Amino acid sequence: MLQRITQRNSLRSVQRLRWTSHRNYATPSEPYEVVVIGGGPGGYVAAIKAAQLGLKTACIEKRGSLGGTCLNVGCIPSKAMLNNSHMYHQAQHDMKRRGIDVSGVSLNLPVMLQAKDAAVAGLTKGIEFLFKQNGVDYIKGAASFVSPTRISVQLLEGGGTEVDAKSVIIATGSEVAPFPGGDIPIDEKQIVSSTGVLDLQQVPERLVVIGGGIIGLEMGSVWSRLGADVTVVEFLGAIGGAGIDGEVAKQFQRLLTKQGLKFKLNTKVVSAEKTDDGKVSLKMEAAAGGKEEVLDADVVLVAVGRRPYVEGLNLEAIGVEMDNKGRIVIDDQFNTSVKNIKCIGDVTFGPMLAHKAEEEGIAAAEFLKTGHGHVNYNAIPSVVYTHPEVAWVGKTEQELKTAGVQFSVGKFNFSANSRAKTNLDTEGFVKILAEKETDKILGVHIIGPNAGEMISEGVLAMEYGASAEDVARTSHAHPTLSEAFKEACMAAFAKPIHM
Ligand SMILES: Cc1cc2nc3c(=O)[nH]c(=O)nc-3n(C[C@H](O)[C@H](O)[C@H](O)COP(=O)(O)OP(=O)(O)OC[C@H]3O[C@@H](n4cnc5c(N)ncnc54)[C@H](O)[C@@H]3O)c2cc1C
Repeated sequence: MLQRITQRNSLRSVQRLRWTSHRNYATPSEPYEVVVIGGGPGGYVAAIKAAQLGLKTACIEKRGSLGGTCLNVGCIPSKAMLNNSHMYHQAQHDMKRRGIDVSGVSLNLPVMLQAKDAAVAGLTKGIEFLFKQNGVDYIKGAASFVSPTRISVQLLEGGGTEVDAKSVIIATGSEVAPFPGGDIPIDEKQIVSSTGVLDLQQVPERLVVIGGGIIGLEMGSVWSRLGADVTVVEFLGAIGGAGIDGEVAKQFQRLLTKQGLKFKLNTKVVSAEKTDDGKVSLKMEAAAGGKEEVLDADVVLVAVGRRPYVEGLNLEAIGVEMDNKGRIVIDDQFNTSVKNIKCIGDVTFGPMLAHKAEEEGIAAAEFLKTGHGHVNYNAIPSVVYTHPEVAWVGKTEQELKTAGVQFSVGKFNFSANSRAKTNLDTEGFVKILAEKETDKILGVHIIGPNAGEMISEGVLAMEYGASAEDVARTSHAHPTLSEAFKEACMAAFAKPIHM
């Protein structure tokens, strides 16, 4: 989808510039059928869908650019840095064995950062274009409820306005969670969040990442490839965060260790102090208590999660209920406790993922127009964009065991896949979990090259309730990495051919 936006964006850049300079702001005399608060993946998709369904729609966004966390400081800039740091690393360490002699390879960090910023700028502008194309009014400012049907907006250009709305969709997303205990204040220079770590102006000699979840591992990989000595400190006994398969997590840690990352698991960071010699001194102890340790770093990344963001919305005044984790409470049709207000994305329940927010955006708009909408929460994939990539969807072995479900496991190693061998990129495997009695696919776990693209086959299979045999009997082009997917399905219901 993002690529589509870029293409249209480049084709119509001249028109877009003209349109963005003629923005009309709504007044209370023009009531909207839908007002969406927040222009992230949840909000902008909901707004476009609502407009496509014929509803008069506005989207209020206070950041000054559309796309939310994902496009501005999340998915997109992090993937730009991951891709380009991977190429740098390949040029330095991998090309020789492929018969490509390169010399004089050096890092031009300012240009790498500019390339990231250019990707962000192109994509965020592309959404403005899509708003215009679909007839969504874009209101640049901070929204606050006056009543359930009236919203005041502090406009970015100065001054304010109020808009009336029959229905409102809250999509205000999430923000970086501070370090629990509050002892590690983020300054975005030496002690950074996921936002600051995307903009470091020089490669730190020593980077300590607090938190071995997806963001910590992706950013740790980036700076390790660019030359930093990276240590990841994780409270739990495994890396990868919630939902990762145990076997995948172990292999993942082995492979990242081989690439030079260091790990301290079952370890709790207690405090961080800046020292006179310009470093940060981290105090740690075993998660179970006892045994203290000190680690010095040039830069510390605090990647301990995100929390729902509702600041300034005035939700208490209109009676929108939140739970004890600060999430807006919704029912299965995205309705909040206030009749005409729905809520989607990071600010409510579920995994904090852009594509989950997008699915909810579409479904929420459809509920408004037709009374029907659907999101299959069991078929939302997760991807870690390191190298190799890690991706999964559905249940883990552990979850199935806990639920008492009988299942078979089909596994196929990339070392036995012809394309992976041809590409000299053979680390990892595909693992399929299928219900014993019906052979229905219940979970897919991949660690390996292009896992993030390959997982879509698993998502589609699960969405349609496919069995492992269904996929195994489906022709897959040769030679492709996706043949490993087919063979893992063969292994789940019978035997693979090539392993
Ligand atoms: C470093 C990083 C990497 C990530 N990588 C991925 C990835 O690869 N894949 C993936 O799926 N997810 C990724 N995520 C998560 C993803 O960014 C979020 O899940 C997604 O952005 C959530 O979308 P949303 O629309 O719910 O909220 P957001 O994207 O947070 O958007 C909410 C918007 O609402 C605006 N807003 C808030 N309050 C108001 C107000 N009162 N008035 C007006 N506007 C307001 C905010 O300015 C913001 O722009 C990543 C996150 C980070 C931090």
